[in-house]
Amino acid sequence: MLDYHLHLWPHGERDRQPTLDQVAAYCERAAAAGVHEIALTEHLFRFVQADRLLRGFWDDEPDAALAASMARYWDDHAHADLDAYVDCALAARDAGLPVVVGLEVDYYRGRMDEVAGLLSGYPFDVLLGSVHWLGTWRFDDLSDPVSMAQWPARAVDAVWDEYALAIEELAESGAVDVLAHPDLVKVTGQVPDAPAEWWDRLAEAAAASGLAAEVSSAGWRKPVGEAYPAPGLLERFCARGLGFTTASDAHRLPDVADRAGELAGLLAGAGITTLRSFRGRMPSEVAVTAAVPGP
Ligand SMILES: [Zn+2]
Ligand SMILES: [Zn+2]
Repeated sequence: MLDYHLHLWPHGERDRQPTLDQVAAYCERAAAAGVHEIALTEHLFRFVQADRLLRGFWDDEPDAALAASMARYWDDHAHADLDAYVDCALAARDAGLPVVVGLEVDYYRGRMDEVAGLLSGYPFDVLLGSVHWLGTWRFDDLSDPVSMAQWPARAVDAVWDEYALAIEELAESGAVDVLAHPDLVKVTGQVPDAPAEWWDRLAEAAAASGLAAEVSSAGWRKPVGEAYPAPGLLERFCARGLGFTTASDAHRLPDVADRAGELAGLLAGAGITTLRSFRGRMPSEVAVTAAVPGP
């Protein structure tokens, strides 16, 4: 098993200098759950390098409350140094820890070439692609009342439409390797009556761009109470021959390799026998090894 989606810092907490000890503790906890390789994938928007490139992307948002909310969120997050983060991950890898160097890359409409240009200067092993916001609406920020007030004001089908369009553009950009939490838009539990049309679009987008898809336990910790992706979407990914990673999306040590055993059960149920690992953004298939059953 892999845990290819890990953060060093919880939202709402300032970044600290990453240390080898922290990475070693993540590896140890992962190994105890039967996870043999991890990827550090901090959010791009935690770094001053992203701030320099992207600050103000919310300026053309006509909804003043949404724009102000995004500006606050951005200012809370964009303080860490990408060079120090990458250096720490490389040092951990060089020390023999089973870790690869990654990043969780958000989708910025019309800006992915610039983002890819920034990232090309770093020796990443794997880049996750995520849609966390539509325009400037952080539809998955359950702690932000401004963001959550948008849900009842919008039609669920229209939200899923906008999400699928963003995923299509992100996939086509070629800037990332893995589609993270592929159906994150279901996070609050609001799902169209007939989601198949959107599942088809998400699966087609990933397949056309050669992206792997992440199978993530994070959805079990959210109101939707279901892993990402939904069974119907996982089935479509399999039918199109996608590669897969497994992930916890932990933002703190206790969630590292969360429910790895249950993820292994999902893979087995879908007939998935290999996972995709990455070095220098080049994929290779590794056998699914048994995860240790959870408590
Ligand atoms: Zn994410
Ligand atoms: Zn994440």
